[in-house]
Amino acid sequence: MEAPVIHEFDAVIVGAGGAGLYAALELARQGVPTAVLSKLYPTRSHTGAAQGGICAALGNQEEDHWEWHMFDTVKGGDYLVDQDAAEILTREAIETVIELEHLGLPFNRTDDGRIDQRRFGGHTRNFGEAPVKRACYAADRTGHMILQTLYQQCIKHGVRFFDEYHVVDLLIEDGVSRGVVGYRLADGALHVFRSKSVLLATGGFGRMFRITSNAHTLTGDGAALAYRRGVPLEDMEFYQFHPTGLAGLGVLLSEAARGEGGILLNGKGERFMERYAPTLMDLAPRDIVSRAMTREIREGRGIDGKDYLFLDVHHLGRAVIDEKLPDITDFARVYQGVEPYTQPVGVQPTAHYAMGGVPTDVAARVVVDEQNTALPGLYAAGECACVSVHGANRLGTNSLLDILVFGRRAGRDMARFSKESGMPDLPADPAEPVHAELQALGARREGEPPARIRRELADVMMDDVGVFRTDGTLRHAQGVVRDLRDRYQGVRVQDSGARFNQDLLEAREVGYLLDCAETTVAAALARQESRGAHYREDFPERDDPNWLKHSLAYRADGGPALRYKPVTITRFTPKPRVY
Ligand SMILES: Cc1cc2nc3c(=O)[nH]c(=O)nc-3n(C[C@H](O)[C@H](O)[C@H](O)COP(=O)(O)OP(=O)(O)OC[C@H]3O[C@@H](n4cnc5c(N)ncnc54)[C@H](O)[C@@H]3O)c2cc1C
Repeated sequence: MEAPVIHEFDAVIVGAGGAGLYAALELARQGVPTAVLSKLYPTRSHTGAAQGGICAALGNQEEDHWEWHMFDTVKGGDYLVDQDAAEILTREAIETVIELEHLGLPFNRTDDGRIDQRRFGGHTRNFGEAPVKRACYAADRTGHMILQTLYQQCIKHGVRFFDEYHVVDLLIEDGVSRGVVGYRLADGALHVFRSKSVLLATGGFGRMFRITSNAHTLTGDGAALAYRRGVPLEDMEFYQFHPTGLAGLGVLLSEAARGEGGILLNGKGERFMERYAPTLMDLAPRDIVSRAMTREIREGRGIDGKDYLFLDVHHLGRAVIDEKLPDITDFARVYQGVEPYTQPVGVQPTAHYAMGGVPTDVAARVVVDEQNTALPGLYAAGECACVSVHGANRLGTNSLLDILVFGRRAGRDMARFSKESGMPDLPADPAEPVHAELQALGARREGEPPARIRRELADVMMDDVGVFRTDGTLRHAQGVVRDLRDRYQGVRVQDSGARFNQDLLEAREVGYLLDCAETTVAAALARQESRGAHYREDFPERDDPNWLKHSLAYRADGGPALRYKPVTITRFTPKPRVY
């Protein structure tokens, strides 16, 4: 192979969503030479699609306290949350949102000029009494504003961006992170980035499901690359379905619609959430609402008996809809030809958010075993990571918060680490292993298209590993995923060129999705209880004596090997979850 181009930076960040950019900003402010590699142009990252809001107990509208927010997060996560991390998340939420405001983020305002706040699922006052206004927002394009604000700040502070560089391998040798290998989309050249510290901030992997709110690029790259290098994946069995995707498409309609007063209706015109969550109703946590909806549909109470229900916002009036929900109501007009001023919108649960991912401690350092031993120089933050602030189910608006709080913490600890450590040596021929893999993938002239494997994977994950699971469906999925893995060894990439070869990279992304799916199925099959988003019809109860623990899936011959580690409990002892 041609010798790769070699770069050197004190810190390398993989991913330019909210997590990556906040870390980069923090490093740049401390004068650490920092590179951000992103397979997308930064402002196209999925953070920019986030709609509803970012929560912090500012108390601008109603009395609120971070302890209430922490309690809601722990209870919402069905007590699988690490409470030391949840305390940091909810305490630091306040300064983080105020810092965003100072960086220039145009939040909606109260009449007296403070940041406005609205309701969101599972957020309550006084430990569960009633909904509270905690979500700060910029209309229904909060993520867009966050991403633009942080990108501008990074440019101002001199962060180096390598756009349209796909990271295709992590350089880890003798248990130390040494950098990454990137593939430049423009010409297919491999670039080696030698670095003291590396942050994985590559986002989620919702594309392993058929109906999903996630962008096409959310294929679990960072999680899979770490897994292939011996890092376990934590709590992969917990994958969240958001209640309101546009029927048939999965395009998200933010929970803000219900936060502002929108309601869900079944085919008989009933407000069915009254039966499932008498106190919070439509604003119960997402796992509960998604299950209730799937039950209504299964029992024949979908709209015209079909597999969707209605979300109705017409009673909010045009002024509220236009001011607070402009984008999502436009989605309904464009994709369904429905007018939300007067008509209900067809919705169904859509695969949305990965609670699991690369395990980290509260400084965002990647940890590799039950004792939380850190892997020197490797960090992870954002949706690809599992620090575990979301436990078994994430509350709405807690992800934008998580990516910023822990992105910033990652930046801080990477700055400390860079100042204390020397530049690590590179492995011999650092780009050779991945070069050989890409050659083999690109050179095959016979074989099936990777898109077929991706489709079959998305179907089986949706049908067998979705809102409801049983031993039978999971075993079936396990067999199918194994078979798809074998077939993947023989796929054929159509484009054999070096320039802008998206075909090659998309084929590689299918491999990452297979890794994520394999670990999800293995951990879900093992966990014989129901908790948060993981619902086993054959084990419908939560089982704390046996299962109040995090799973760790390690790559091994013949499928993932599972180990477990304890949950950190500080303030709130597990109780039954009633809403
Ligand atoms: C439609 C939608 C609406 C949402 N609304 C909300 C909301 O209102 N509130 C809330 O709290 N949460 C919301 N979420 C969830 C939240 O937006 C995400 O969890 C969060 O933005 C993820 O941020 P991130 O920084 O981890 O990754 P992302 O923003 O997904 O960015 C990932 C980055 O990694 C890069 N990348 C990936 N793979 C590679 C690779 N191999 N090489 C190089 N670069 C790579 C990409 O280019 C990208 O820059 C929403 C999610 C969706 C999908």
